[in-house]
Amino acid sequence: MPLLARMLPAPIQMEVRRGAVAELGALLADSRVATSGRVAVAVGPGQGDHIESLIAPTLDEAQVFRVSDGSVEAAVSLGADLRKGAYEVVVGVGGGKTIDTTKYAASLAGIPMVAVATNLSHDGICSPTASLLYEGGKGTFGVPMPLAVLVDLDFVHKAPQSLVRSGVGDVLANLSACEDWQLSHVERGEPIDGLACSMARTAAEALLGRADSVESDAFLTVLAESLILSGMSMVVAGSSRPASGGDHEIMHAVDQLFPGTSNHGELAGVGTAFCYFLREDEARLKQVVGCLRQHQLPVTPGDIGLSSEQFTAAVSLAPATRPGRYTILEHLRLQDSEIRDRVEDYVRAFGR
Ligand SMILES: [Zn+2]
Repeated sequence: MPLLARMLPAPIQMEVRRGAVAELGALLADSRVATSGRVAVAVGPGQGDHIESLIAPTLDEAQVFRVSDGSVEAAVSLGADLRKGAYEVVVGVGGGKTIDTTKYAASLAGIPMVAVATNLSHDGICSPTASLLYEGGKGTFGVPMPLAVLVDLDFVHKAPQSLVRSGVGDVLANLSACEDWQLSHVERGEPIDGLACSMARTAAEALLGRADSVESDAFLTVLAESLILSGMSMVVAGSSRPASGGDHEIMHAVDQLFPGTSNHGELAGVGTAFCYFLREDEARLKQVVGCLRQHQLPVTPGDIGLSSEQFTAAVSLAPATRPGRYTILEHLRLQDSEIRDRVEDYVRAFGR
């Protein structure tokens, strides 16, 4: 008998709402998540005390660990603690760094991980990857996807707005990444996964044209769901392909050449707009730039404090940050002088 459908791994629970952290105990009472009650909770340095006091009434037997930073060392050390304590599940509560550190630690300890996001700055909430500081740079490590995913909107409302907004840039990058994937499929015969593309693109389409922004629960819910769907699209694809193309190559290059310029999502948004400019896709470019502006996100190199020369250097380096990934940048193979011209045209078109 032929295979009638493919099976996809998916979190057994997903919730986006206010008050999720305070009700963690109820989630963990679900027998599919934990049976014996040996639960570890990992929190970041910033809001650790607050989170600990919130979960104490419903999770009094959980052991709380502090994650010092988003480094491989912190993850390895947490992984060793988790193994030693024979925990059944670990819950990572916090922003991207805490969640990624916990994800990697859980994979080292061989136990499942529950992600409780308090911020919406990138699509790592539900992805099968952990981005960690490693040997002076950032490395991406493959990990199992979280067993359950919660987003607490009370925390998201209190998080720095610029960080929450940046999640929009990371989701918009899906449009450009899928375009790159399609290009590689046509030019290079790279296999493409239509289901992964449809999830990644639908996540981004949901954000385009919305009149509300990060002040509204309705918008934050869509943003959270889009970020989770992006992560799922990577699980379906078995790689970051549907959510990372030339847009993310530019981001990685800016990170390498000019560390500390801006965060993941903001840079991904600028990279996305610039890739659409290179594709000369006026309609999409207008939509993407309009959406970035609507959410007060950077569009031009100047918006992130880079000169045209610096941005040119980043675009030139970009393909080398992800060898083997074919995108609009590898396709056009522009010389440095041509990149400079395009960057200057872009700044002329969108500079304010
Ligand atoms: Zn990203």
